[in-house]
Amino acid sequence: MNILVINCGSSSLKYQLLDMETKNPVAKGLVERIGMPGSVLTHRKAAGDKEIITAEIPNHTVAVQLVLDALVNPEYGAIKNLSEIGAVGHRVLHGKDLFSQSVLINDEVMKAIEQCIELGPLHNPANIAGIEGCRTLMPGVPQVAVFDTAFHQTMPPEAYIYGLPYELYEKYSIRKYGFHGTSHKYVSQRAAVLLKRPLEELKLISCHLGNGSSITAVQGGKSVETSMGFTPLEGLMMGTRCGDLDPAIVSYIQKKENLSSEEVNEFLNKKCGVLGLSGVSSDFRDLEGAAKEGNYRAQLALDVFAHDVKKYIGSYAAILDGADAIIFTAGLGENSAEMRAKITKGLDYLGVEIDPEKNNTRGKEIDISTENARCRVLVIPTNEELMIAMETYDIVNQG
Ligand code: ADP
Repeated sequence: MNILVINCGSSSLKYQLLDMETKNPVAKGLVERIGMPGSVLTHRKAAGDKEIITAEIPNHTVAVQLVLDALVNPEYGAIKNLSEIGAVGHRVLHGKDLFSQSVLINDEVMKAIEQCIELGPLHNPANIAGIEGCRTLMPGVPQVAVFDTAFHQTMPPEAYIYGLPYELYEKYSIRKYGFHGTSHKYVSQRAAVLLKRPLEELKLISCHLGNGSSITAVQGGKSVETSMGFTPLEGLMMGTRCGDLDPAIVSYIQKKENLSSEEVNEFLNKKCGVLGLSGVSSDFRDLEGAAKEGNYRAQLALDVFAHDVKKYIGSYAAILDGADAIIFTAGLGENSAEMRAKITKGLDYLGVEIDPEKNNTRGKEIDISTENARCRVLVIPTNEELMIAMETYDIVNQG
């Protein structure tokens, strides 16, 4: 069975068509600038050349139509006709506490996803537009929603409740939700395979370190704590997000810089993190380069980031009462041997010891610990598309 995985942003649509027998993508691509001048679809068949298709793409339905046309194109498509797509899996950012797992989409589910818009105002409307486009253009093909928040619904109340009046939780659903759930779930499952132990008996600390970053404590395959919160702004300092702050700083900046509440929110999401701190870039490759040339603020940004990650690892080791493994994933976690070495230095109390030679790898599944290390350190490339496709496959084949 082929499964189409769709990930819509406000002006973009990423897709992959996966063959569930081989678990490999047979085609993938990206639509950019939806609803803007210069919209374009970049399509690639597995092992094929890139096709760049320019067209007017006013909305997500037209984007979906173009993707489907590309998939069945006789020259660069991957399938003969649309009946070869067994189901579609959609990434949905926010499922509030309404969804603790992936779900087959029907009208009732659509209404519930709409209810989540207030907590995911940028992403959920785009996710809905993508789902609606597919439902219109592929009637009869099962559509499944896979939520970024769902994996974290197993957190106990003491992990997700903030120190605010309880009425605010009841009235406005203000609580920790957590994100990157699909990624944390995927790498946890892979960790069990790599460690050759049942997931049910493992204590894992999963570090998804990319442009957006979060850390999750996973006990027996279930999320019990995570660093992102009510929104993805909480937790680690990130590429452009500030991460944890004294909340009093927010209104202080607002007053001093004369910003509206929307502006300060945008500022904290887009202009802070390692970008704001270094003044160099949000990209860790640039920071590592600048730090080597002696740039103090780039070095400081790397130091603060590594310190933050280490602090979370320590607190999650406390929550889990130890850890069997620490997992590194996403752009930075998978690729930067330097950052992994910096973070894992001085975690002797946990039994962490990495082998510098093994650490000197990128982008592949590997245990980089020394032979006798008590707590293993794993590098596991994330694959959110495959996880979405697997969940979709399971749901479609259940019923
Ligand atoms: P996103 O959150 O956008 O999905 P990714 O997981 O793709 O992000 O991670 C992108 C980030 O990973 C880049 O901004 C960059 O900082 C970092 N990165 C990628 N490759 C490397 C590398 N070789 N060395 C250091 N950092 C890297």
